[in-house]
Amino acid sequence: MSIMVPSTTPALIPPGRQTLDSALHQLDQAAEHLGLDDGLRTMLATPRRSLTVSVPVRREDGRLDVVQGFRVQHNVSRGPAKGGLRFHPTTDLDEVTALAMWMTWKCALVGIPYGGAKGGVAVDPTGLTTRELERLTRRYVSEIMPLIGPEKDIPAPDVGTDEQTMAWIMDTYSVSAGYAVPGVVTGKPATLGGSLGRSGATSLGVQIAALAALGRSPEGVTVAVQGFGKVGALAAQHLSDAGCKVVAVSDVTGAVHARGGLDIARLRAYVSETGGVRGFHHGDAMSHDDLFELDVDVLVPAALEGAITEVNAPRIRARLIVEGANGPTTPAADEILAASGTTVVPDILANAGGVIVSYLEWVQNMQAYSWSAGEVEGKMRDLLLNAFTEVRSVAAERAMTLRQAAHVIGVGRVADAHQMRGLYP
Ligand code: GLU
Repeated sequence: MSIMVPSTTPALIPPGRQTLDSALHQLDQAAEHLGLDDGLRTMLATPRRSLTVSVPVRREDGRLDVVQGFRVQHNVSRGPAKGGLRFHPTTDLDEVTALAMWMTWKCALVGIPYGGAKGGVAVDPTGLTTRELERLTRRYVSEIMPLIGPEKDIPAPDVGTDEQTMAWIMDTYSVSAGYAVPGVVTGKPATLGGSLGRSGATSLGVQIAALAALGRSPEGVTVAVQGFGKVGALAAQHLSDAGCKVVAVSDVTGAVHARGGLDIARLRAYVSETGGVRGFHHGDAMSHDDLFELDVDVLVPAALEGAITEVNAPRIRARLIVEGANGPTTPAADEILAASGTTVVPDILANAGGVIVSYLEWVQNMQAYSWSAGEVEGKMRDLLLNAFTEVRSVAAERAMTLRQAAHVIGVGRVADAHQMRGLYP
């Protein structure tokens, strides 16, 4: 006898679809609050352009692999599409669509003149040689070439990509154009027109947002960081430099805990040597799940989507969550956290430092000019803190969570831009 499993069983919904459902749920709440009509809601719920490509990659042993790639431009009402490029084995069109949508609200929220986009390639970059990665990147770029450009859509790093990936993209695009086009991509190496401060900008933004939300001296404030990668490791460093005590961190290899605080500089050195936090001697090993339940003041999810769910949310003891990752908290978990009085600084605010400095990089490229590290940081800090203040006051005025307020502001600005421009034809 076969057992019928209802198709709504959460475990059977692919992760990408769950991420998109979360993004659509947040949009729906904001649209309801803003009183947007059905047509506008549908427009905002639907990406303007989605491209799926097959990317053939010649492996070192001569085999030919074909992987799927995506680029989604969710909205372009306020300016060129903007957003990162992710290399991850489980990425799919739904996930990339959700991430593109979040980019739209994020750019609108912090007041930079962009729409939202995201790219993805369903591949594990750690399983490829550097030359394979280069071939893959260049071929993916040539497949999405008609969509991108400094006035159209500007990629940047995300999970699994870095400065080198951006250099290859810039080169592939520039060779096809016949001249150097640094503004086609942000997060490039400084020698190619990358901005000072871009590589650490997301992490610094997480620290700035966390300290603003704390509203008291960070001295001795205890922190747990889930995800010790590009964003999490440097966020842990910045928080520790500010006086916080980072007592636990995790990555794919494991989790470590030290009640008296981890030496983050030492741990980062250990990770760059061994590839992960597992086995770090100056702390005790702990399980991934236990990290979420630690009695800490601040929890920073800085890995992937869906880390905080209705299963672990009731056990979270941190009173402040600062989202370094995109979409780490599901809507069901959000409700539980709101009911327990936990403050969540949402992704589109907490991790916006990255795209803000991407914007500053692009402005410098378009002017063929460059600013000092101090100028870049000062401008980023201002934009981020202005957005923070706005979100906090809207949340207080309208008795909503910081996430709801951030979405009301972001979605509202995009809706306004769309309405002011009107519909063609
Ligand atoms: N991938 C980053 C994000 O999710 C940065 C995007 C960008 O700089 O364009 O915000």
